[in-house]
Amino acid sequence: MTDDASHDWHTRLSHAGRAGKRAGGFVNPALHRGSTVLYPTMDDRRFGMTKRLEQTLLYGVMGTPTHWPLEDVIAEIEGGTRCQIVCSGLAAVTTPLLAYLKAGDHMLMPDSVYGPARGFATGMLSQMGIETTFYDPMIGAEGIAPLFRPNTTVLYLESPGSHTFEVQDVPALSAVAHARGAKVLMDNTWGIHFFQPFRHGVDVSIQALTKYVVGHSDVLLGSVTTNTPEDWERVRTAALALGQYASPDDCWLALRGVRTMAVRLDRQQQSALVVARWFAEQPEVARVLHPALPSCPGHEFWKRDFTGACSLFGVVLRPEFSQQAVHAMAEALELFGIGASWGGYESLVLPTTGFVNRTAGTGDFGGQMARFHVGLEEPSDLIADITQAFAAMRGFTGVVALD
Ligand SMILES: *Cc1c(COP(=O)(O)O)cnc(C)c1O
Repeated sequence: MTDDASHDWHTRLSHAGRAGKRAGGFVNPALHRGSTVLYPTMDDRRFGMTKRLEQTLLYGVMGTPTHWPLEDVIAEIEGGTRCQIVCSGLAAVTTPLLAYLKAGDHMLMPDSVYGPARGFATGMLSQMGIETTFYDPMIGAEGIAPLFRPNTTVLYLESPGSHTFEVQDVPALSAVAHARGAKVLMDNTWGIHFFQPFRHGVDVSIQALTKYVVGHSDVLLGSVTTNTPEDWERVRTAALALGQYASPDDCWLALRGVRTMAVRLDRQQQSALVVARWFAEQPEVARVLHPALPSCPGHEFWKRDFTGACSLFGVVLRPEFSQQAVHAMAEALELFGIGASWGGYESLVLPTTGFVNRTAGTGDFGGQMARFHVGLEEPSDLIADITQAFAAMRGFTGVVALD
């Protein structure tokens, strides 16, 4: 660990969590696979069992020297102290929810939350007697205060929101939660390190490492990061109780991915802005939902609280384009694959209108929507590709000229 916050994050990503002596002189850690750990004596075993919260060799499920450097890098990226690696981004959502919620509790979740997180709340958590209220992500401190109940123990945040990219006023919302004795859990996958959750009132930060950390669309992983010993004990205890584990092979690949993440993000951030600004000038486009552009809900909070942007954003098409026309556009794209997930080196498109499942009335932006992920390709090639796909979209609806 560098432990030197004065360094630029490019420097810190190159050095954080480097295994040092643990790696036997090599730059990178060895790949340790294993379930059983052998103890020389019974005293060693007894002592080991008291170290469940530490990075200690006890049993494979509690981590290996391949997991530890990744835990340290992610904690450093997010400005937290400890990190639990789990098998997917979704497991990074469900594990802390199960750590902080019990039967009879109530949770507040943004209407723009990642779909499977909503499904977990309305499905399994509901079956367990935990109630969730979905709130408008732009509700603000005054709006959210009356939604708290005496049994509200978790305020969940995701900023920006999935598919519609609303940027939340995290410090104000967190302050209300803390005044009511609730914990603040946040999905920070989009913000990566551009948003420092613990400086803005978040207690537990969730990331799908599957996205930019892995960066190559070949591994699923998640992380849960905390900043106090109490929160760490809570999260770690739940993760162990659930048997949460991530393969050392996958952690090793994520560690390889993270070393180049800052450079990939520099490029992808810039390219995405070029493409997003181009979209904003096209007559087919009603609105661009990119947090760094003023047309995005909560842009002012992005400007205040974030130091950058990743390369995922939304586009609202003009209302004359039907869902079928937008699907025809997606299918006509050659450099953008149609697919879920994001954060890899390749560009993706996903028509999202069908995925937007809202109950607080926040999903209607007045036209069909598509989500774009910009990869490492040259932006002018991507724009040329979208130009020809827009022609397919216009052809589908028979709209030839737009003013
Ligand atoms: C992709 C994603 C997840 C889930 O990650 P997986 O590794 O695919 O399970 C969670 N939250 C957000 C915001 C995501 O985009």
